[in-house]
Amino acid sequence: MFEKLTLVGIGLIGSSIARAGKLKGPAKTIAITTRKAATLEEARSLGLGDIYTLDAAEAVEGADLVILCTPVGVYADVMQQIRGQLAPGAILSDVGSVKGQVMKALEPLMPQGVHFIPGHPIAGTEHSGPSAGFPDLFVGRWCVLTPKPEVDPVAVDRLVSFWGALGSNVEVMDAAHHDLVLAITSHVPHLIAYNIVGTADELGEVTSSEVMKFSAGGFRDFTRIAASDPTMWRDVFLSNKDAVLEMLGTFNEDLSKLTRAMRRGDGEALFEHFTRTRAIRRGIVEIGQDSAAPDFGRLQTNAPKKS
Ligand code: NAP
Repeated sequence: MFEKLTLVGIGLIGSSIARAGKLKGPAKTIAITTRKAATLEEARSLGLGDIYTLDAAEAVEGADLVILCTPVGVYADVMQQIRGQLAPGAILSDVGSVKGQVMKALEPLMPQGVHFIPGHPIAGTEHSGPSAGFPDLFVGRWCVLTPKPEVDPVAVDRLVSFWGALGSNVEVMDAAHHDLVLAITSHVPHLIAYNIVGTADELGEVTSSEVMKFSAGGFRDFTRIAASDPTMWRDVFLSNKDAVLEMLGTFNEDLSKLTRAMRRGDGEALFEHFTRTRAIRRGIVEIGQDSAAPDFGRLQTNAPKKS
């Protein structure tokens, strides 16, 4: 489908695209570029691509598909490095978790004739770097593309097929809508996790070691999310501020309702709320977006060792 795919950034997401790309063949040649020499060497030793260079401009030469896989905060810098070498007719895409700000930052830098089709694979883990990726990361997961309406539909179809070849389901939507949906399904949950783990850590009367030792399922899952990459998430909150603040407003109102029900001893309200949320969890399992296995599908080999 593509002659040359260039991945700018080769962490969890970039290396998963490279791995899946090698196995499933939607691009003949894969070129990899990143900021640090050590990261490039790691990618080379894992055999993730065909061409490796620290020179981003050189990496995109002759590429018909370029995907930015760096934190969104450095997109404009990266674009300044590569824009002179982007071939007319090439597709420039990305995998960033925020779309509106990304489009605002990149659109003025887009050379004539380059198809700009922002993307976001809704798949990931809390791990980072080239070794963290795996080829099945995108299988059965959704990838959202947010091209402007005037973008060539043939180019959009090519990118839809690319993600389809990696195993993704693809949906095309407006960037602002994407940002609002992801604010509630991903960004606010991460903010809550970062907050609760920080609060537990700062509690004077509960020592850090007690927090770790007695961590119940709920808290453990928050710590997993709160271990996500600090650079990536700083950039997400700075670039999707408006949508996250809007959703946080609603979240705070709902939290007040639950707090009031608890204070008033209104068990019926609590029970009704928890029944509704349990149905949402069941719905997610039913559409195949998570496993119904106990403990969110964690292998029992991961069970804690006796101390
Ligand atoms: P990651 O594992 O930390 O990898 C980031 C990559 O970007 C590394 O290869 C890093 O290379 C490179 N990089 C950083 N600054 C750079 C710069 N100035 N110039 C060139 N390369 C640079 O991150 P990730 O989890 O793959 O996330 C990448 C993107 O995917 C983010 O935009 C994020 O929003 C999006 N995303 C992440 C997830 C997730 O769950 N993690 C899910 C969906 C989408 P060096 O080591 O060389 O600095």
